[in-house]
Amino acid sequence: MTTPSRYRGQPVSEGIGLGEIYQGDPSLTKENGHRRAATEDEVRAAFAAVARDRAALAAELREKGHDQRAAIVDIAALIAADPALVTPAVEAARAGADGADAVAQAGEAQAALLAALPDPDLAQRAGDVRQVAQAVADYLGHKSAAPPPAAKFILVRREVDPADLIRLAEAGLAGAVSVGGGASSHAAIIARGLGLPMLAGADPDVLDTPNGHHAILDAGLGELIVDPPEPELIAAQTATATTQEPRFATDNLKTADGQPVTLLCNVASAAETRLGLAGGAAGVGLLRTEIAFTTAAHWPTTADHLTQLGPILSQLNQKPAVVRLLDFSGDKVPPFQRSQPDQGLIALLKAPNALRDQLTVILRAGRATRLSVLVPMVRSLDEVAAVRAALAEAAAEAGREPPRLGIMVEVAATAANAAAFAPAVDFFSIGTNDLTSEVLGLDRADQGTRPALAADPRVQSLIQHVVEAAAASNITVSVCGDAAADPLVLPLLLGRGIRILSVGAARVPQVARLIADTDTRVARLCRPSLGQLSADRTTPPRPAPRSRDTARAASDTRRTSSSRASGASSRSAAPTTPIAPATTPSRDTMGAAIPASPTVASWSSTA
Ligand code: PEP
Ligand code: MG
Repeated sequence: MTTPSRYRGQPVSEGIGLGEIYQGDPSLTKENGHRRAATEDEVRAAFAAVARDRAALAAELREKGHDQRAAIVDIAALIAADPALVTPAVEAARAGADGADAVAQAGEAQAALLAALPDPDLAQRAGDVRQVAQAVADYLGHKSAAPPPAAKFILVRREVDPADLIRLAEAGLAGAVSVGGGASSHAAIIARGLGLPMLAGADPDVLDTPNGHHAILDAGLGELIVDPPEPELIAAQTATATTQEPRFATDNLKTADGQPVTLLCNVASAAETRLGLAGGAAGVGLLRTEIAFTTAAHWPTTADHLTQLGPILSQLNQKPAVVRLLDFSGDKVPPFQRSQPDQGLIALLKAPNALRDQLTVILRAGRATRLSVLVPMVRSLDEVAAVRAALAEAAAEAGREPPRLGIMVEVAATAANAAAFAPAVDFFSIGTNDLTSEVLGLDRADQGTRPALAADPRVQSLIQHVVEAAAASNITVSVCGDAAADPLVLPLLLGRGIRILSVGAARVPQVARLIADTDTRVARLCRPSLGQLSADRTTPPRPAPRSRDTARAASDTRRTSSSRASGASSRSAAPTTPIAPATTPSRDTMGAAIPASPTVASWSSTA
């Protein structure tokens, strides 16, 4: 019998997953027991492989009489062998840069030089260079990561990328384990949206687990069990078969005191959209367009946008579709942007073609939806004006009226200044993830961050301010940060007058139930009292023992894989800036306003 191995991690998305181990890290080889990214030789070899591949394809095309297409492919072969592209990438890899990053940056630098040339034919080569760089990066990425297994699997990576999750969501992915990250990382947010169990801050030894071994990922226990003993496997199979959340009627959703509430879902993929709509969401309240491109080697082209948005927006006929512009910031910066001085919205506004391409596709793919465009991380009115002008232009070209334009209120200064922004926009959407981290002085990647921290009075008073500013200008305000699905924060939001919420797709049924059980008259009266949030946050939660522990105790083969990898792990959970003792509403003091929901409540206590 194989001895089970156990790896601890911080639960960031609830549930139990069963499947084979799938090590998803690309280009990793062992070196002194550690893993490393591609070397300069591997980068050089990747360019050579792409050049060979393109030359072979060109020869094949020529043989079949497709001379014109062969000539185009020949150019790609030449580009892949061009020292102007290869040398800087190899040098960057030699200097310690990650191989794929080095290739992306060299490609972007070369493309920018070409794009600036006055000769339009040469300028057009910029796109070819980007494509070759992408092919080389893909080659590096796929070279040593085995393809995912055909059976159900649990993805293990040093840093799970949210793009992995949406790519693999409908290909057998049963859960994810990340050595890095925390509850507010975008991978965790997407895992919750997909209803996939996930651990972050996991024991790094998990990276040495061989592919193909059976495993149980139990986010409730904060544990990945590889080669589990039979009784545990049976208990896990039984648990997964019985944990389906029953469908809750969401048509005409109302609070317990009859206040109508619109419940939408947050998505980044077609899979989440299907899930959210099946769970009863009235539409999409936040489409995170950047997630699909977090490994991109260049700004997405119109074809890239169409491939991503088409399958999502085609599900939203006559339904709300709030599409957010690319937000390449924080943990969502793709390789080609990492060395740039500007990121996020600022970078997008400095790349007018990128903005125009995205708006064009949003208008085209979203024409049958009740479309709105949402601007991320807004800091100034000039930014709003720039997007509005670009949107008007794109709409005129498409021969239609511009859709509603709203802003994310997720920067503290923007929230504080909401009254100045309200007359310039059609709606506000409050991003509690970024807002809370900024107000509390936390890094979003910190393992101590979690949606419930938005209950802090400093965050709540800013939200109140935003709601009042919206009301004064007669515009709508919604909340799309993860706090909208938190059982502690949700009643506070309803009590402050928020009537539009957008939550992770898999959360829709639970949140609908919470809304229906909440009395806003009681919620409105909730006043902050001494709570435990600030004390809790420095101690990652230890999940309560459950019945499956009994089965596990029966096994004498247990190996507690690491003491460093309990929820506390080697990463510090301390905030970057200490949080002053704060008064926060607690479940006790809020009494009847907070409905009891075991599923969501247990998530909240472990996330
Ligand atoms: C937020 O910050 O709350 C938000 C919804 O945006 P994101 O999580 O994508 O940064
Ligand atoms: Mg945000």
